[in-house]
Amino acid sequence: MNILGMTFDDLVGEMASRYGKGRCHAAMLYREIFRRGNPDWHRTDLFRASPDLTRQLVQDVDLWPGRVQQQQTEGDLVKVAVVLRDGQVVESVIIPMAERTTLCISSQVGCRMGCRFCETGRMGLRRNLTAAEIVGQVYLVNFILGCPVGNVVFMGMGEPLDNFGPVRHAIRVLTDDHGFNLARRRITLSTVGLVDGIHRLAQGGAPLPQLAVSLNAPDDRIRSRLMPVNQVYPMADLRRALLAYPQRPKGAVFIEYVLIEGINDRPEHADALADFLRPLRAKVNLIPCNPCSGRPFRSPAPEAMDRFRDRLLTRKIFVRKRAIKGQRVMAACGQLGKNI
Ligand code: SAH
Ligand code: SF4
Repeated sequence: MNILGMTFDDLVGEMASRYGKGRCHAAMLYREIFRRGNPDWHRTDLFRASPDLTRQLVQDVDLWPGRVQQQQTEGDLVKVAVVLRDGQVVESVIIPMAERTTLCISSQVGCRMGCRFCETGRMGLRRNLTAAEIVGQVYLVNFILGCPVGNVVFMGMGEPLDNFGPVRHAIRVLTDDHGFNLARRRITLSTVGLVDGIHRLAQGGAPLPQLAVSLNAPDDRIRSRLMPVNQVYPMADLRRALLAYPQRPKGAVFIEYVLIEGINDRPEHADALADFLRPLRAKVNLIPCNPCSGRPFRSPAPEAMDRFRDRLLTRKIFVRKRAIKGQRVMAACGQLGKNI
């Protein structure tokens, strides 16, 4: 029983059907694992009092989040590579922030969306991760590496809405108030813009993550050149889905925009982007394009990025520049998977 992929209610169900036990044992087990990361949960009084059950549980409960293969540090950023049971490698990035540590997690090994500027896209899709493997990344950093995770962002390898069921279930586990208990606003799901997936997410009920969209272009012509997904879901459809997505009061959708010199960084692109975003409550993150093997794309100079930002500001768009971090160890945006 792979407990890392279970909500409290899942565990209650399993405890009843497998062992005929009630909520009390489930609550104790769940708390010891998800609140304390205690691999010796079976030594607590409640379990010591029922040795037969405990023997069985020790055999059945699978708590293994994978084996850390490598940790690479650059500044305050740590990239962690973890080997899964079948030998596939998944990468997460620990990003210390002013208040809380953010963990950037993967939802797939590789990705099949094929964005031209993205290293993960070049790998293609190797496989989807299970809910347990997704939650396992948080468990491992939180309890095994001992770095308390305050925010989770689905911005690592993979397109989360292309692995819909396991990702949604992982969000349920991460927000479960018997366990990790992360607030909705502490989980950000970044998508390439799979419109059907956004609708499905919105209709699936709570807990809804904070939504981020990798827009990266001011119009369909440029976006389709950079991101094949745009030929299936053009920007007007994407905007409709974003307008329909339930936001928290004062909430906004995050728009990621990778600036690529000579492609999407001109003043008229900023104007078109502002027009596109006008009906939305949006916060734009400008990301300098990181190098991607075999492609000529590169970031504009810092002054050009500032000009792009200022142009958006004059159009009353909320915008921030994202700092460049992690390029050397290939932990920066869009670079995961390069070495695996
Ligand atoms: N598949 C999802 C989640 C991954 S997030 C998504 O695309 O949103 C990865 C982020 O890195 C995306 O915002 C993407 O636009 C960005 N990215 C990809 N390649 C990049 C590059 N070469 N330089 C900077 N950012 C890049
Ligand atoms: Fe996949 Fe996102 Fe990279 Fe596009 S940017 S290839 S969707 S990981």
